[in-house]
Amino acid sequence: MLHTIAGFDRIGEENAFAVLARATELAAKGRDIINLGIGQPDFKTPEHIVEAAVKALRDGHHGYTPATGIAPLREAVSADLHTRHGVATDPDNVLIVPGGKVTMFLAILMFGEPGVDILYPDPGFPIYRSMIEFTGALPVPVPIREENDFAFSAEETLSLITDRTRLLILNSPANPTGGVTPRAEIEKLVQGLERHPDVAILSDEIYSQMTYDGIEHVSLLTFEAIRDRLILLDGWSKTYAMTGWRMGFSLWPDSLIDKARKLGVNAWSCVNAPAQYGALAALTGPQTAVQDMVREFDGRRQVTVDGLNAIDGVGCRTPLGAFYAYPNIKATGWKSKELASALLEEAGVATIGGPDFGVLGEGYIRLSYANSTKNIEEALKRIGDFLDENP
Ligand code: PLP
Repeated sequence: MLHTIAGFDRIGEENAFAVLARATELAAKGRDIINLGIGQPDFKTPEHIVEAAVKALRDGHHGYTPATGIAPLREAVSADLHTRHGVATDPDNVLIVPGGKVTMFLAILMFGEPGVDILYPDPGFPIYRSMIEFTGALPVPVPIREENDFAFSAEETLSLITDRTRLLILNSPANPTGGVTPRAEIEKLVQGLERHPDVAILSDEIYSQMTYDGIEHVSLLTFEAIRDRLILLDGWSKTYAMTGWRMGFSLWPDSLIDKARKLGVNAWSCVNAPAQYGALAALTGPQTAVQDMVREFDGRRQVTVDGLNAIDGVGCRTPLGAFYAYPNIKATGWKSKELASALLEEAGVATIGGPDFGVLGEGYIRLSYANSTKNIEEALKRIGDFLDENP
């Protein structure tokens, strides 16, 4: 018998991939499936990015690159952070990683061990909790509440910090709720964190460019007081419709960048070379495609929210960021995961049950509106009809 480490008794995964597999299987059998389950833009990567990667291959960029990423890309990330957040950073603190997810993997691995606490949003991206559990650290959920428009509460977050807390994970704009934490609340949180100088902060800002209704995204990077313990997670997947390229970047403080680099060298040596050239073109080229995508998501957001609120027993707050709607379905009488499963199997609409995002997820389902307006309208009609027929 093989004896793998105990962490594997605790590690979880992302149910969105299981739902995607089931939706694909049903579609292959000829069923008409609308997938509002997986969180990825339905757009193609902009052409100039694809061309840059193809050119890199043709130009012979076939070998290893520096472990932290090619210098022009790290410089472009630093310039991009300056443009968007007005903060000067050193490209030597940037790490290019194979997907945004990898930054959380590294950060949680760096701080998690038995006897320590890691705070993470609940509901939240499922990999936070999974990885915390894997390391043996105690996962401490920070409640993200509907009545608070799915923003972090500074007071509640700070109240959970103890002398065992090593890492606090923040995410705004948020998956699965679409919540955006407002400036005043972030300022209060940062003020409170100044009393806890030994707590590292992982700010997952992968949806940083997707906010609506003129709502600003406030990057944790803009707060100098915590910059020496801030790990910033961002990347290309959502912003540039590049989920399959597996390209992400992170910014690490001086005390952590070399540890992160070493983990990377142990795990993947360097990120796919031509993809790095594609990512460079994404940051240095025209940003119109990003603006067009966000405008399109905005329109679909309205259709999704209006459609959900027109269904008996369903109530949906207007999400202010990302591309998810997170309706409350408690008044339908259905349990979230049963409803999500029945919608897929019987109505041909893939969604994700709230409990896949945490213990506070019961009573909610997540819909990704990164799909065509026509498909969204049809999916909402099917959901409404299904609930009418199956109260
Ligand atoms: N962080 C959040 C909150 C996400 O929703 C996702 C993807 O769904 C990621 C990180 C990971 O992004 P990537 O595909 O670049 O690994």
